[in-house]
Amino acid sequence: MRIANVSGRLTLLRDEGGIDVETASGGRFGPDPQAVYGQWKAFCAWADDAPWRGAALIDPKPDDLGAPAPRPAQVFAIGMNYRDHAAETGLDLPASPATFTKFPTCLTSPFADVTLPSGAVDWEVELVVVIGVRAHHVSPGGAWDHVAGITVGQDLSERVVQFSSGGQFSLGKSFPGFGPTGPWLVTPGELADPDDLELGCSVDGHEVQKSRISQMVFGVPELIARLSAVLPLLAGDLIFTGTPAGIGATRQPPQFLRPGQVLSSYLEGVGTMASRLVAPPT
Ligand code: ZN
Repeated sequence: MRIANVSGRLTLLRDEGGIDVETASGGRFGPDPQAVYGQWKAFCAWADDAPWRGAALIDPKPDDLGAPAPRPAQVFAIGMNYRDHAAETGLDLPASPATFTKFPTCLTSPFADVTLPSGAVDWEVELVVVIGVRAHHVSPGGAWDHVAGITVGQDLSERVVQFSSGGQFSLGKSFPGFGPTGPWLVTPGELADPDDLELGCSVDGHEVQKSRISQMVFGVPELIARLSAVLPLLAGDLIFTGTPAGIGATRQPPQFLRPGQVLSSYLEGVGTMASRLVAPPT
């Protein structure tokens, strides 16, 4: 199953078109894309029963799409979680997930303009998990049962702030617009192998990152187990699961995003989103 946020309304995406969930469910499920994660199992059962057959179809345009989970209570993000990325930075693999947050106000739509606050903003394509069922003390074997689905994310990072004062990851990665996600959410059952997908991104058509999530140090099940061993993961929460090799900061010379460029990011089995970088207003 695929669901999208279309102009702020929860939408079921079928091959033939989009279906407005509030209308098709007679109001059983509201229009808020975030609220559905609080009723995730009931929503999946409703969608499986297909009472929406014959409903009016809509044809969402890219600019209509919003973040699939626009107002999570918690946003987890993981550093140094790909073997190829650890190798390019010269750092040792972490013994446990290096966790920080992206404050939720940084989240934005999959095709939004993103303002660059400085000349040191870097790209990080990531698989983003959306939690569907509260997870506390969950084993790796049970972890996928707590996932609503996955989507594409960019963990945009202002490297000067990130590495200031001994490390300010959460601030340096939380400027407005620094968390585009989308273009929609895909449930794990739609994917041939949710633990081995290709992901990558390009700047103005030039590929800068390309890897596979099988390169992760801690895969999705292990991340959910380790995080939920400490605190509950709530329905609708996000986990940015880390980025592979190819970031701008480790290039010689370092390379950062510039106004006017388009950053395109994809995840196999999900889709592609594109952010246009813009200069701050003068
Ligand atoms: Zn990251």
